[in-house]
Amino acid sequence: MKHSLKLESISSWLPTASKPVIISGPCSAETEEQTVATAKQLAATGKVHALRAGIWKPRTRPGQYEGSGEEGLKWLAQAKKETGLPITTEVANAAHVEAALKAGVDILWIGARTTVNPFSVQEVADSLKGVDIPVMVKNPINPDLELWIGALERLNKAGITKMAAIHRGFSSFEKGPFRNAPMWDMGIELKTRIPELDIICDPSHIAGNRELIALISQKALDLDMAGLMIESHINPDAAWSDAKQQVTPSVLGKIVEGLVVRTVSSDNKTFKDTLSVLREQIDHLDDEIMSKLASRMKISEKIGQYKKDNNVTILQVNRWEEIIQTRITLGKAMGLSEQFTSELLKLIHNESIQIQTKVMNKVEERV
Ligand code: PEP
Ligand code: MN
Repeated sequence: MKHSLKLESISSWLPTASKPVIISGPCSAETEEQTVATAKQLAATGKVHALRAGIWKPRTRPGQYEGSGEEGLKWLAQAKKETGLPITTEVANAAHVEAALKAGVDILWIGARTTVNPFSVQEVADSLKGVDIPVMVKNPINPDLELWIGALERLNKAGITKMAAIHRGFSSFEKGPFRNAPMWDMGIELKTRIPELDIICDPSHIAGNRELIALISQKALDLDMAGLMIESHINPDAAWSDAKQQVTPSVLGKIVEGLVVRTVSSDNKTFKDTLSVLREQIDHLDDEIMSKLASRMKISEKIGQYKKDNNVTILQVNRWEEIIQTRITLGKAMGLSEQFTSELLKLIHNESIQIQTKVMNKVEERV
């Protein structure tokens, strides 16, 4: 479905930010001292463009630290006063919005557990009618691009044009190295669908541990994301939420310093010429691949007709196993990974079965 979003880029609503935009601060505002001290140390690194802190924390189990509530907004406002940096916090309902606006919060964000719920997103959107404030929308916990876009649309319809998306990874049943699987293709697909939308990566919630943050941050920049939201705490191990994934402000500074910012294109003439020659080769090879695939499907169609005439089933397991084995061996010899060859073959095979099914079920015209 085509979207129709009216958007203003981050550079218009966070003009002090360079690329990458860095938003940092603790997972939760715990005390005034912790909030302000973290903010001051972050500001001193000179790398941070906005401060974050959770005030209302959506926790998986009751009894975990659920945030300071409105009291913490004063600490955040104090951090803003002492550092001069804009502040941002998570809102999940109309009451949160009202309190955050009253406290002078500069940017709001919608958390992953709220983006999944259209009722909540609509409530937040309705409470923002007539308010000119930037809102960042985290991806829903489940990998559903429509839900993510839907939340952006609800806010946009309420008049919010200063928006960004935050990619924080997706909850998954399989336990991998990450707390939330990055599924980078979701971010790429979002950018392809809405090119003018800035995407910020949240490596802290993707990683779930501090060791992987630098690596994920670099990957995000290499995918041309506009910035990073990274959790930082003066004493990470003692944090009341997300302790394992927080870093000290000084480590935050080092992570940002170590990032390589690559450009989408280069003005260097030799680079451009070489790139265009290589791209032409790719275009040519893609043409060949497509026409070979089309020829292959035509033969599948003939086979389908032949099977039909002889009353034979479409799927013949032995033949399919033989195809997989021989092609994977061949692919390996040519330097293609087993996973790639097997996924490619599955796609081709599915299409081929669909074509044959159509042939089988076609009602012959009577003569
Ligand atoms: C957070 O930013 O601290 C948070 C709760 O994030 P998410 O909504 O991505 O889980
Ligand atoms: Mn957190």
